[in-house]
Amino acid sequence: MQERNNQISLQSTATRILQELVEAPSVTPCDSGLIITMARYLEELGFETTWFEVNGVRNLIAKQCFSEGPSFAFSGHVDVVPAEKAHWHTDPFKATVVDEVIYGRGVSDMKGGIAAMLSATRVLLSSAEKLKGTFYWLLTSDEEGEAEYGTKQIVERLGEAGVTIDACLVGEPTSHTRVGDVIRNGRRGSISGAIKIAGKAGHVAYPEQTVNAAHIAGKVVAILCDLAWSKDQPDVKTTLQVTGVTTTTDVDNIVPEACQVNFNVRYSHGYCNQEIIAMIERSLASFKDNLSVDWSRACNPYYTSADTEHAFLNLVEDAIVQCTARYPIVNTAGGTSDGRFFANGHTQIIECGVKNDTIHQANECLPINDLIKIEQIYLTILHSFFKDDNDPS
Ligand SMILES: [Zn+2]
Repeated sequence: MQERNNQISLQSTATRILQELVEAPSVTPCDSGLIITMARYLEELGFETTWFEVNGVRNLIAKQCFSEGPSFAFSGHVDVVPAEKAHWHTDPFKATVVDEVIYGRGVSDMKGGIAAMLSATRVLLSSAEKLKGTFYWLLTSDEEGEAEYGTKQIVERLGEAGVTIDACLVGEPTSHTRVGDVIRNGRRGSISGAIKIAGKAGHVAYPEQTVNAAHIAGKVVAILCDLAWSKDQPDVKTTLQVTGVTTTTDVDNIVPEACQVNFNVRYSHGYCNQEIIAMIERSLASFKDNLSVDWSRACNPYYTSADTEHAFLNLVEDAIVQCTARYPIVNTAGGTSDGRFFANGHTQIIECGVKNDTIHQANECLPINDLIKIEQIYLTILHSFFKDDNDPS
């Protein structure tokens, strides 16, 4: 009976917070006041808060030190992608409950995670247990965009203050078919390239007087697709995809003078951006008189292994087993995330959140039971991370 009561109170707290968060239309980079709302909630729980603005983006650092010991950070974003009202059955900026499912923009990505963690934080702090370590909450309103002024700036500020986080939980929606079935211990890096190929135009009947930029482009594409990624790990593979090939002509009697090949590389943590650039430029060296490469949108990878002492990955896995009776799949799938900004060789970063099957879509939704389940998982993680082994209770 007691467990049932406990569940009901968990449910109502997280749901109520989530409803409040959804009703603020915080489309990137606007936070619609949510950074300050969250700062107020965390202050009520005893956190010291600092919020700061960079280029119109608000970020929050909240900190509560219990005692000497390791530091834990919950990292999240209050911003959401836009919602086209015409495609929704309900108002995307009102959390509407239909058949025990909450509909609204950001309920899964990732206001649900924030509401669950806030509710879990309350429960943790209201228990009589003695806690050790330092608890950080790190929130931004610039994750869904270029992410230049969000978590990157938060980590820089922490660095200036001499703070390196020991364990970071990113609340992104990682689950696949049920809450806790998939978590991420890394993300691949990403970089885009645009290869500009210069040839010499002329009549197609006299090819010996021309340099066909499209033919060079064909050879370039073949080389890119044949690259071997020897530094990949068994569980994380590098992939290169050509995303476009364009020429200057669309008639059938002129050899094209110029051609552009666009591509993107998603690379494993065996590589860094500079190595990818060097490797691709070396592979194209025989065409160097005819082409140049513009690089853009570089994002470094991150990877957290279970090979360290007191590995945070093991702690999260154990919490999930306790709450769901099953081990999660651990992978580095998906696009880039703010987790990359914490990568420094020390910080152990794990992403764990609700299901991602409706994120960025019309009618984004989150079953109330999933919100309860992720809150239980978060609370179990918090209890086990901050538990003071010297506390007899
Ligand atoms: Zn997200």
